[in-house]
Amino acid sequence: MSANEAGFNTRAVHAGQAFEPRTGAVVPPLHFSSTYAQDGIGGLRDGYEYGRGGNPTRDALQEQLAALEGGTHAFSFSSGLAAEDSLIRAVARPGDHIVLGNDAYGGTYRLINRVLGEWGIGNTPVDMSNLDAVAAAVAANKTRIVWVETPSNPMMKITDIEALAKVAHDAGALLVVDNTFASPYLQTPLALGADVVVHSTTKYIGGHSDVVGGAIVVKDAELAEKIGFVQFAVGAVSGPMDAFLTTRGLKTLGVRMDRHSENAQAVAEWLLERPEVEAVLYPGLPSHPGHELAAKQMKKFGGMISVQFKGGEAAARKVAESTQVFTLAESLGGIESLMNYPSEMTHASVKGTELAVPVNLIRLSCGIEDVEDLIADLEQAIGNITD
Ligand SMILES: *Cc1c(COP(=O)(O)O)cnc(C)c1O
Repeated sequence: MSANEAGFNTRAVHAGQAFEPRTGAVVPPLHFSSTYAQDGIGGLRDGYEYGRGGNPTRDALQEQLAALEGGTHAFSFSSGLAAEDSLIRAVARPGDHIVLGNDAYGGTYRLINRVLGEWGIGNTPVDMSNLDAVAAAVAANKTRIVWVETPSNPMMKITDIEALAKVAHDAGALLVVDNTFASPYLQTPLALGADVVVHSTTKYIGGHSDVVGGAIVVKDAELAEKIGFVQFAVGAVSGPMDAFLTTRGLKTLGVRMDRHSENAQAVAEWLLERPEVEAVLYPGLPSHPGHELAAKQMKKFGGMISVQFKGGEAAARKVAESTQVFTLAESLGGIESLMNYPSEMTHASVKGTELAVPVNLIRLSCGIEDVEDLIADLEQAIGNITD
């Protein structure tokens, strides 16, 4: 059985992880070398020449990522935004247009609007769950990329990947899915028709809040060649230690996501009963407008929950600043629970734009702790709301 035909967790543990032939070391060694000895000029061993172009530790991670997303090629970068930047530069040119979700990750919008906009790449933010609106925006411009996050951050909207791929392809555009929130354990967009998957591997894939990284995965050789060229020519590659830590985290993705999803479901159901709460945005709740679609295209519903409070901004801020097990911090997807107040933290860069996040909203990244402790922590934090 080849590693690529095996089940998800078997692939996570074994893809790109053959033992080292000389010593039998079960964990492949971490290669720090920036350059490689040549057997005569141009006599490369196994294609290795220079660290920006190739590194065995990075290659192992890339093989593991491709195997888990069901792609043929993966590329590992120094951050999620570095991956996004290289991807867009590989496939779009001045005059091209990007249609993206109107609740895209703030940093993605900032990159597309404020950096790449200056280089002549236009954009239109739209509600991705409204396919007619997407088709209209795509048709109105020379659209090269349709860019979606599902579940989206932090509004937790669910978009039909298969239907969106048709809209993009009918217009000759590529569908890019930012799969950071779901991870390949819960959702594999390439199998649903997407052309490209991007990740902030800083989040669930690394999983331990100890490494920043990004990735691109594709299933097409021509596209892979373009992206590989930019990865090499621009050079925003992940370093060997980062790649090693990411691989180590990725091996346990399946067991972690099961626990994240289980904890988040229980927390979301508990929050729904609280009188202080105006809305709980979690696709695992039957009341969520994307519940059925999520149940169809995702294996489980993941670890992220957004909550809106009746007491408005003051109540949301009070809860965000009162938890003890949930740590108030940017980022998500680690084994420890994190609390975020998006409008001033992760999404401060879109304040005042149409992507702005409601001020009565907090975002929870439910970790793998005991769920009773998470609920007790939220109970005491919500108890601090004074109306
Ligand atoms: C964090 C994040 C990014 C950006 O990734 P970095 O690793 O921080 O550069 C992109 N998309 C989503 C959904 C994210 O959460």
